[in-house]
Amino acid sequence: MAESIGILGGTFDPVHFGHLRPALDVADQLGLDRIHLIPSARPPHRGEPQATPEQRLTMLQLAVKNNPQFVVDDRELHREGNSYTIDTLLSLRQEFPNSPLYLMVGTDAFSYIQTWHRWQELLDLAHIVVMQRPDETLTMSDEMTSWYRQHLAINGAPTQLAGKIWRVNVTQLAISATEIRTKIAQGSNPQYLLPDAVIQLISMLGLYK
Ligand code: ATP
Repeated sequence: MAESIGILGGTFDPVHFGHLRPALDVADQLGLDRIHLIPSARPPHRGEPQATPEQRLTMLQLAVKNNPQFVVDDRELHREGNSYTIDTLLSLRQEFPNSPLYLMVGTDAFSYIQTWHRWQELLDLAHIVVMQRPDETLTMSDEMTSWYRQHLAINGAPTQLAGKIWRVNVTQLAISATEIRTKIAQGSNPQYLLPDAVIQLISMLGLYK
């Protein structure tokens, strides 16, 4: 089979260790070859990020420069309109027709996946990997619960290119970009929550003050 590819989308405003370590845990446990980190241009479910798309992209590049398993993928930044995950998966599927694709989402994001554009088609294009986020319980509607149960991967190695929901245990890091932005705005040191190279860029650009 072709290389298997993990996908982590987000605002990455800024990227932090709560994104990177869990993504690597998923890659280790499911035997993924690469992880695409995909910053969204205009996330439909939240306000405008504070850093520009280019700044968020540069922070990602600095964060993973020492690990070739991570690929910083800017495809959403070149698209007009809202950043819909379904469009990103369609574009990845076209580029990698024979690769199993694994869309990673934290429990907070997964809980409202039903509000995503064309959510029921996501599994036609990729697997979904649910990563437990500290202090976040998974809440699901009845419709979502039956969809979840129907597609939950029981165990064993994946054999399909898409279609299953995986639960993977990841390192529990109670870190959020919101907390980091707040710390910086208050003048406190965010070190050890995110890579030093990213902190250096943030202070050079005067971001989140
Ligand atoms: P913000 O605080 O600005 O909302 P965030 O820290 O939640 O940002 P996002 O860029 O919105 O980060 O998250 C992108 C993806 O990474 C989402 O699927 C989210 O659930 C997941 N994620 C973010 N932080 C963690 C964490 N600490 N542990 C596991 N998953 C996480």
